[in-house]
Amino acid sequence: MRKPIIAGNWKMNMNPTETREFVNAVKNELPGSNDVEAVIAAPALDLTTLIDTAKDSVLVPAAQDASEFDSGAYTGQISPKVLSEIGAKYAIIGHSERREYQHETDAQINAKAKALFNNNVLPIICVGETLEQREAGETEDFVATQVEGALNGLTADQVKVAVIAYEPIWAIGTGKTASSEQAQAVCAHIRATVAKLYDQDTADALRIQYGGSMKPNNVKELMAQPDIDGGLVGGASLKPDSFLELVHYKD
Ligand code: PEP
Repeated sequence: MRKPIIAGNWKMNMNPTETREFVNAVKNELPGSNDVEAVIAAPALDLTTLIDTAKDSVLVPAAQDASEFDSGAYTGQISPKVLSEIGAKYAIIGHSERREYQHETDAQINAKAKALFNNNVLPIICVGETLEQREAGETEDFVATQVEGALNGLTADQVKVAVIAYEPIWAIGTGKTASSEQAQAVCAHIRATVAKLYDQDTADALRIQYGGSMKPNNVKELMAQPDIDGGLVGGASLKPDSFLELVHYKD
């Protein structure tokens, strides 16, 4: 059985003081770690505060990006080696905001995934189409190409422990959620793509999140879909109360 994974993506919000306050407000109210994995992807500058404050709790720390290089002349980048050393379990890679503003390519995202695995940090790989692509009927082909590009050269054992986040770009931060049927259809297509690239066992182990205006009032319906194993949540993860409602969607 795939363990549900609800991950907050704070984006460039929150400072160390706010991070400490948030973690102290949620850390004793989280569901058991066998039930739902509760993750916060904090800005790099808040990560050590998050990790220190969350220790002895089940809250799982994550980064929002990682370099494809461990160290060197890469000004401003975030080392996957250091993420591992400080205790980040996951790093989001290929978020649509980075694909758009930093012009990240599938090849780069693939290199980042490999660098993370080399350092025992697990990637949360974001994929998703624009509204134009959806309207042109290109969603499934486009998302399958992103998945294939991101996973290129990874072993089945690596893919089994990776996470893919399906985030239709038109639903991110817009208040427009994909319907649970739309989200399920693409998540099922991602799993079928992985089964074709690897095998059914690998596809069945891989966890797939939906992201795009997930909120306390739609989480239950989205999480009831057979191929949706979690959520990647922006806006609704910034307040302790709504984050707690999301991770307790089963209650
Ligand atoms: C995101 O940034 O990954 C996201 C899904 O944002 P929001 O939940 O605010 O749409």
